[in-house]
This record gives sequence, C-alpha cells and structure tokens, in this order.
Amino acid sequence: MKMKTVKDILKEGKENVGNSVDVKGWVRTRRGNKNVQFVALNDGSTINNLQIVFDLNKFSEDDLKPVTTGSSIHVTGKLVESQGAGQSVEVLAETLELYGTAAADYPLQKKGHSMEFLREKAHLRPRTNTFGAILRIRHALAFAVHKFFNDKGFFYFHTPLITASDCEGAGAQFQVTTLPLEDLPKNEDGSVDYSKDFFGKMASLTVSGQLEGELGATAIGRIYTFGPTFRAENSNTPRHLSEFWMIEPEMAFYEIEDNMDLAEEFIKYCVNYVLEHCYDDIKFLNDHFDKDLIDRLKFVVDNDFVRLSYSDGVKILEESGKKFEFPVYWGVDLASEHERYLVEEHFKKPVILTDYPKEIKAFYMKLNDDGKTVRAMDVLFPKIGEIIGGSQREENYDKLVSRIEELGLEGMDWYLDTRKYGTVPHSGFGLGFERLVQFVTGMQNIRDVIPFPRYPKACEY
Ligand code: ATP
Ligand code: MN
Repeated sequence: MKMKTVKDILKEGKENVGNSVDVKGWVRTRRGNKNVQFVALNDGSTINNLQIVFDLNKFSEDDLKPVTTGSSIHVTGKLVESQGAGQSVEVLAETLELYGTAAADYPLQKKGHSMEFLREKAHLRPRTNTFGAILRIRHALAFAVHKFFNDKGFFYFHTPLITASDCEGAGAQFQVTTLPLEDLPKNEDGSVDYSKDFFGKMASLTVSGQLEGELGATAIGRIYTFGPTFRAENSNTPRHLSEFWMIEPEMAFYEIEDNMDLAEEFIKYCVNYVLEHCYDDIKFLNDHFDKDLIDRLKFVVDNDFVRLSYSDGVKILEESGKKFEFPVYWGVDLASEHERYLVEEHFKKPVILTDYPKEIKAFYMKLNDDGKTVRAMDVLFPKIGEIIGGSQREENYDKLVSRIEELGLEGMDWYLDTRKYGTVPHSGFGLGFERLVQFVTGMQNIRDVIPFPRYPKACEY
C-alpha cells in the first residue's frame, strides 16, 4: 500500500470512503467515553488532524491508555464519513501499533503556550500547530523564490560562505580561523600573523554574497543567490538574527527602475504563492495570532508600492509633527520608527525609498548627478521596516576607484575588474528571507520563523 499522509487522506476525502487506510503520526489529543475514544492524529503534512475512532468493543482501555498527547502510533482501519462536525471523514480503527509513548512530562501538553516558552523548547516546537504552519510556509516561500527566478531565466549562483572580503565594510563579521587562540602566532609588530592561518590570510563568514554575485551577473546576465549569511552585529531586536538566509538577485543591464520593478513583482509573487498554496496554514495563523494577516497580505499583492526619494521622505517626517525617539534631518540613517511611520501611518502602503545620501550607504552604489546621493533603494514594509536593501551599482571605473580610496578599502582589484573590462550598468538587491517569512506569517519576532535561531548569547543545538 502506498504510504499516505494525513494531508493525502483528507484531500481525497469522501471519494475514498469505504476503503482501508494505513496512517502514522503523533497524537495531538485523545478524548471520549467508555464506549468510544477519539484521537486527533497529525503527521506534520498539514495543519489539519485526522480523527481516528476507537470502538471500545474492539480495543481495551489498556490498549488506549498509552495513547496520550505526543505519543506516536500506527493505525489501520476503514475510512468512513464523519458523524461529527469539523471533518468530513474519519478513520474507524481496526489495528493499533504504538511506536513511542510520551509521558506526562512531555512539555507540549496543552495548547496555547507562549512564543517565549516555545523558544526555550525550540527542539520540540516544530511539533506544535503554530510552528508546523510556519515551517510549511517557510518551505513554500523558499520554493517560490526558486520558481520565480527560474521562470524568469535567472541562474542560481553559489557564492562562498567563507570569504576574505567584507562586502558592507561594516566589520560585523564572524572570523573563521584555525589558529590556536591561546597562543597566537605574531608578527614582529605584535599583530597576528595570519599567514599561519588556515587560508594564509584573515577569513570570515560572509555578510552578503553581492560582490561575488556581481561577478556572476556581469558574465551570465541575471543571477540570484539564496543562502545563509552571518552578521556579528549585537542587535537584540525582533528583526535581526546572527545567521539568516538572504536572496540576492543581481542583473546586468538593469537600471534602478528595473530593479524596483523586479523587487515589487518578486515580493508580490511570493506572498501570492503562499496565499494560494498554504491557505490552511495562513488561516490558522490569522485566526490564532493576527486577525488582520490575510487582509494585509492581500493588500500588499493588490496595491502598488509607493516610490519616494529619501529627501521627500525626510521632508514628510520633519513636517509630521510627530515626536520620534531619534531626531530626523537630511543625512540621518533612518531608524525603524521613521520607516514605520512612513509605511504604517503616512502612506499606509509599502514604500520604496530611493536616492539616499552617499555617506550612509555602501561604497558600490551608483552616484547620482547631484554628487550627494546614490541610487539606493530600500523597500519598507508594515510591521517589518526594511525588508529589501538594494541599488544600482557604480559601473564607472574611476568613480568607483575614488570611492574605494576615500574609504580606504583594500584588496578590491578582482571586483574592480568587472568595471575595467566590459563594464555595464547593473543592479541588484538583498531580501532577508526571514523578514519575508515574518511578514507572511505575521510573527512578531524573527526568532520564531527559523527552526534554530542564532542571536547574541544564543547558539543551542
Ligand atoms: P537593517 O537596517 O534592518 O539592519 P541592513 O541595512 O543592515 O538592515 P542590508 O545590509 O541591506 O540590511 O541587507 C539586506 C537585507 O537583509 C535587509 O533588507 C534585511 O531584509 C536583511 N537583513 C539584514 N540584516 C539582517 C539580520 N541581522 N537578520 C535578518 N535579516 C537581516
Ligand atoms: Mn543591519
């Protein structure tokens, strides 16, 4: 017999009534009386449970005693139309095999644990309804990302996780070394002698695959990366992780407007994909956590994002009359409260902010004719703030060299070769995958949308 999941069985539903079923899973609940017992069985394939009916003429109370919340069982029986409300079919059990018991100390006994409690039990939380839903949605989103780009003819390009370059120049990198930390080899001037290190130089975990991504785009046209990124920034916020997944498309011949169009189309595609393919899970999260979730997702899919320059954005903030914790003025790196004011209170729509002061953006962004701003674009979302950061890249060799010298960056010759030989206008952006999952699931904290979150002082499992 083909191994069927609970999802398969519920989907086939009434058309299989009368047939025998063979199903395996974990017990969510058991209830009933002296004549009949009902088990809600879940195997993780769907948010929905399959109801198993045990007739106590056929099974003894001792048979069913170990069938408690969290235990794992194998049932065969017959599919019948359900007498009760809430499901169309159920299984009339004929045999019961107990795989594993779950004693009363099983931590997920009752429903409705707080997210904080579940974070402490992160090794078991995938078994809850909430995390099951999040993990299935996360999977669907990852699949949608690949499908979107593949269908558009983009190539999945693998950039290194261990790197000798620092893309953002922010210094928030985790160092990778095999040097003995208690007895470091030193140069004459007292500095660490990295020539003795594994790679013969200092190396780190990547904070972004963009610079290497540009090598791909300026060769095979349109690429995207989708992989882990690591940032050692000490950001204890609900929107930052130390290890997160990033999607970074990079496109030859794209100007900033093309880049914005792609970003908007991409996010809408992903949100729509999940509405179409994970509706049960989204509905569960909507009903249990966030009554506006589905409306918010549909709103994003159905409406154009606002496009606005940084300068105009700052003007709106200055004229808002609102008291912000951090002051607003032209030149400031906008804080989350500013971004969220524009998105949630002023426009009530996603906003793409462009043309930022060059001082607060990375060296590789294309300088505008005003000499003060660069062709950056940040996509700002309700509840999340920045979900995408991107730009048109500086393709002019001389301008890029002078910017690199201004900032004192070293070891960039390989990068500059893209501008030295056959340079082209090109653009790209980075989307933090977990911020997208956060938006789509409505979760307040980014630590709840990745199975094993890493953040300062937290590295379990
Ligand atoms: P923020 O200002 O929110 O820290 P950033 O300006 O550092 O973001 P970028 O360097 O532009 O972000 O990275 C691109 C995208 O990666 C961001 O738009 C965001 O979606 C995501 N991202 C950045 N840092 C983190 C992090 N620590 N954890 C999760 N996602 C992140
Ligand atoms: Mn950051």
